[in-house]
Amino acid sequence: MVKKSSNDDKSKTQGKDTTTGDEVKKPATATKKSTTGTASRSGTTAAGKSKTTPAKKAGSARKKATASKQPAASAADNTAGKTVTSKTTAGKAPAAKTAAQDKTKAAPSAAEKTAQTRKSVAGTTTKTVPSPTATEATKTESAAGEEIKPPPPRQESGPKGKIVPRSRSEKAGQKKPGVTSKTSPEPVRTSVLAEEKTPDAAEQAGRDTETGGQPTYQEPETPLASPPPPVEAAEAINPPLQEQQQATEEPQDAPGQEQEVQHNAHPGPQHPPMFIVQITPELAPLAKVGGLADVVTGLSRELELRGNSVEIILPKYDNMRYDHIWGLCKTFDDLWVPWYGGNIHCSVWFGFVHGRKCFFIEPHSQDNFFNRGSIYGFDDDILRFTFFSRAALEFLWQSGKHPDIIHCHDWQTALVPVFLYEIYQHMGMTHPRVCFTIHNFKHQGVTGGFLLEATGLHRPEYYFHPDRLLDNHTPNAINLMKGGIVYANFVTTVSPKYAGETKDGGQGFGLEPTLHTHHYKYGGVVNGIDYDVWNPEIDSHIPVHYNVDNIQEKYGNKHALRNRLLLADNEKPIIAFIGRLDPQKGLDLVRHALFYALNNGAQFVLLGSSPEQEINNYFWELKRHLNDSPDCHIEVGFDEDLAHLIYAGADMMVVPSLFEPCGLTQLIAMKYGTIPVVRSVGGLADTVFDKDYAHDKALHERNGYVFQNFDNAGLESALSRAIACYYQYPEHFRDLMRNAMRYDYSWHTAGQHYLNIYDYIRNK
Ligand code: ADP
Repeated sequence: MVKKSSNDDKSKTQGKDTTTGDEVKKPATATKKSTTGTASRSGTTAAGKSKTTPAKKAGSARKKATASKQPAASAADNTAGKTVTSKTTAGKAPAAKTAAQDKTKAAPSAAEKTAQTRKSVAGTTTKTVPSPTATEATKTESAAGEEIKPPPPRQESGPKGKIVPRSRSEKAGQKKPGVTSKTSPEPVRTSVLAEEKTPDAAEQAGRDTETGGQPTYQEPETPLASPPPPVEAAEAINPPLQEQQQATEEPQDAPGQEQEVQHNAHPGPQHPPMFIVQITPELAPLAKVGGLADVVTGLSRELELRGNSVEIILPKYDNMRYDHIWGLCKTFDDLWVPWYGGNIHCSVWFGFVHGRKCFFIEPHSQDNFFNRGSIYGFDDDILRFTFFSRAALEFLWQSGKHPDIIHCHDWQTALVPVFLYEIYQHMGMTHPRVCFTIHNFKHQGVTGGFLLEATGLHRPEYYFHPDRLLDNHTPNAINLMKGGIVYANFVTTVSPKYAGETKDGGQGFGLEPTLHTHHYKYGGVVNGIDYDVWNPEIDSHIPVHYNVDNIQEKYGNKHALRNRLLLADNEKPIIAFIGRLDPQKGLDLVRHALFYALNNGAQFVLLGSSPEQEINNYFWELKRHLNDSPDCHIEVGFDEDLAHLIYAGADMMVVPSLFEPCGLTQLIAMKYGTIPVVRSVGGLADTVFDKDYAHDKALHERNGYVFQNFDNAGLESALSRAIACYYQYPEHFRDLMRNAMRYDYSWHTAGQHYLNIYDYIRNK
């Protein structure tokens, strides 16, 4: 239990290096992008005091009322409610018509190990990436225990912007290193999509999807990322509300079921309407780095559809998509936010974003917190978002808003419940309850005690306590995410499996003991996706609309994707990857999937970017390396528009993550009938069910391909089956597409779970 007491005493221990305990330096320049790199959203910063504008207004006297509530840490007491191109392609180098189709690759291979040794392909052995050591994994992945360093620069890499196809002739004469120039056999056409030619059975049966005399692509040997930390069998939290309705009456072996799968379709209990405020660093499509942005947008919409009032507070970034804000106007020009013993003057703007009410905090200080052209990637990220958290609460208080629920997200806003219960509750803000959602445990916001001084959370001896903010592993460091867990009334993460993995499966990055202590208020809810945005029936970014009943129309998008990326128009399936180029996403396996696809009768499209220039450079190099391939396109950058076309035009989406809290790409892919090929981890395991091995699911409930081991053999065991099915059993592949499209991964169910949680905590 966290005790309340006066919090007036000033910190005298700010400015310590959280690893060494030595005095730490201020970030060189608060407004300058860091030049060393780690991932975005890293939440680990150079400890040090930011240069802050001298207070324009002397510290306002803030009245402290006596504590009226128990702190959040002890509020919930049982499990009820817990759910708890510039592609310079060699162009459509038409597949040459030599005849080399040899043996057929066997369809489903049961054991992943069988794929460990790659076959010699057309005389060339594709090399596998050497397995890095466990020590390397620990070094890379252990966030909590690592030295606190300046965060990475977030830099855009290489040429940016839209793909501007160049004529293929521009590539003529270019030599592509590592690609053996061979003529391709006449491709066998398949009938997965109706417009494609149907092969005759004999042709299909004899097809060798592995070589077929195609050119082979030599995969570089340099490892990109470290292997996963050892993951023990994680027990998924099985929230009582997670009632997936399964059509158990269907025979297990009935092939090609056509009936609707009504997953998660119960309406749920009715609750009186609530006033919910989302405090978030990201919001799609305005300010999006990853899935968090989509989640806040989709969930807010669903909550409003259910009759609740929702307001969203986020920073006023200079690089937001202002074209998506309607009626932007200044609504509050006199917000003074306590900071380093003084105050920073802020304005608050209001505008509608796709119908949602949004408030944007704009600080006026030389720190220039949110006018840096990028959301993350600065030395003082922790200060920036801590300031935002404090400002958001200050705005709620000064504007007299009393939400029933404040929902905050990730380390960036993890101090919201701490501020609420340690400061604002004493000022009379006793009503709101806090739900804290953790989208990724890797980035926790570990920093030095200077932050306490900045925010007015004085009394370091009180906060530097194992039961409060003290980091579980780094001496003299506070951990923002831990604070959020301790003080929030309920903590969720984004899938039940990940909830189990983080608590008991070694994926909590040091927060396992904290999760155990607070297990009674911790659960997982699978994210939904916004079917107003991600829906092939209405998607304005794609040329041909389709649904489960006219799935053949998907081919029009495949054609458009090939046209846009200057890929060869052949019989091959398109395998895609979309995502942040972060080691978390299994970058070695992504690269291996690319080469495996090219060497086994498939095309590959990659869209991704990293805040780390080195990683972007690597993929730029790979792009140059494969420049002449008519079957490959690598796009380094962030391109929402292209993402839509890829989801619609690709046949498979590979998601080989090291860990994956929920994952949205597989959910979006399924809505577009694009078959996910995923590693069985986190939310991927909760949402994708293997066509051949998900024996607990009826055939019509199986929706993709799944593998276990984080290595090339594991990936191949699933990808080979997917490619083989595409070529050899197109009818089955099409059934799988329909199964995937029928799944309801909208916000309907997840919205109900969150309402149940809100309702549960607001009465606490
Ligand atoms: P994470 O939150 O770890 O980044 P998710 O799978 O939960 O991963 O969400 C990723 C979201 O970001 C998806 O909507 C995906 O389409 C989108 N996305 C990721 N990278 C890119 C990119 N380079 N261009 C466009 N959209 C992207």
